Amino acid sequence: MAKKTVKDLSLAGKKVFTRVDFNVPRNESGEITDDTKIKAALPTIEYILEQGASVILASHLGRPKGQVKDNLRLDSVAQRLSDLLGRNIQKADEVVGPEVTEAAAGLKPGDILLLENVRFHPGEEKNEPELAKAYADLADIFVSDAFGTAHRAHASNTGIAAHLPSVAGLLMTEEVENLSKSLHNAKRPLVAIIGGSKVADKISVLKNFLEIADSILLGGGMANTFLRAKDYNMGRSLLEEDKLMQASEIMQLAANKDVNLCLPVDLVVADEVSADADAEDVIIDSVPDGKMALDIGPKTREIYADLISKAGTIVWNGPLGVFEVEPFARGTMDIAIAVANSQAFSIIGGGDVVAAVEKAGVADKISHLSTGGGATLEFWEGKELPGIAALEDK
Ligand code: ADP
Ligand code: MG
Repeated sequence: MAKKTVKDLSLAGKKVFTRVDFNVPRNESGEITDDTKIKAALPTIEYILEQGASVILASHLGRPKGQVKDNLRLDSVAQRLSDLLGRNIQKADEVVGPEVTEAAAGLKPGDILLLENVRFHPGEEKNEPELAKAYADLADIFVSDAFGTAHRAHASNTGIAAHLPSVAGLLMTEEVENLSKSLHNAKRPLVAIIGGSKVADKISVLKNFLEIADSILLGGGMANTFLRAKDYNMGRSLLEEDKLMQASEIMQLAANKDVNLCLPVDLVVADEVSADADAEDVIIDSVPDGKMALDIGPKTREIYADLISKAGTIVWNGPLGVFEVEPFARGTMDIAIAVANSQAFSIIGGGDVVAAVEKAGVADKISHLSTGGGATLEFWEGKELPGIAALEDK
């Protein structure tokens, strides 16, 4: 069911506790190397301020595990946010406590207060009711814009919602609307492309798409396990011997449900994963003993691209080969271009596959690039995410 959004409430004069995802990548000296996540939260922050409200921002950064870690403080995030917004930001040095209470009490319309890394507090990841209440006491309204943590029930994204009117921010709304389109009443045919390294990570996503997809195109390391389950020799390829039964079951289920589950018909193999490896195309029944399958082959790229060109909706998680290393990038790059050129509604989710599509230079031709890693996968598993469930229905 659709959730209420920040646009459904009147915000003037209110204090709005806004959970954002500022968990940005940083280098060894703590400098932000990519501020995409901060930029993604700007529309919601600007909207709230324009309505004449003040904002209390909360985010985690890294994994401090309930302890104060000086290298994970949010000061550099506050600085970058201030630069991007062109406004002053008050940065608190604690998550909750007297300093925060006083700062929040003094907020005027247009003011912004950023709390310290919420995961410094041991109650955050435990979803401690006292901490959730302490957050709520600072504000009048709760807005959740942190889609990337929506699969976790923590105090600042779920617990707090028990105490305040709670709605989705603009980024959260966009994620949920787009991802929902891939699961419910998707324009047909629905083609799911699933690659990446391991079956274990993706088995629940595969099972969910068996219920709703017309075609599932497999690639990457996980396809190796399926091919092995069909008794092909896979040489030294990455595969999971303990998942062969599950792979066979999935192939059986696909046949029963009339889902077109596609496996590679040819592969790119090599002795080693390196830029100057001697890569070779082989058909599926001739993987040499000592070699590894590291990408989908030319015939497979053609078959997959053809199905993609006829799709109404495309969902893609996980690269189709070791795209980071040149001789094994082509499968993922060609498929990225095929998805970009299709008329379908296309959604791509997963840290590595999003990076691959950016590398292919076609990110702007994809209907939606999901910002959530684990959250996106759990959404595609068909699970209800606690950070979304906690928000009010329309
Ligand atoms: P995502 O982040 O998109 O969900 P994953 O994390 O599941 O994707 O998998 C990405 C990794 O899988 C990449 O680092 C890539 O090199 C690796 N990979 C893809 N194909 C293979 C393969 N055939 N053998 C080994 N690793 C592979
Ligand atoms: Mg990954």
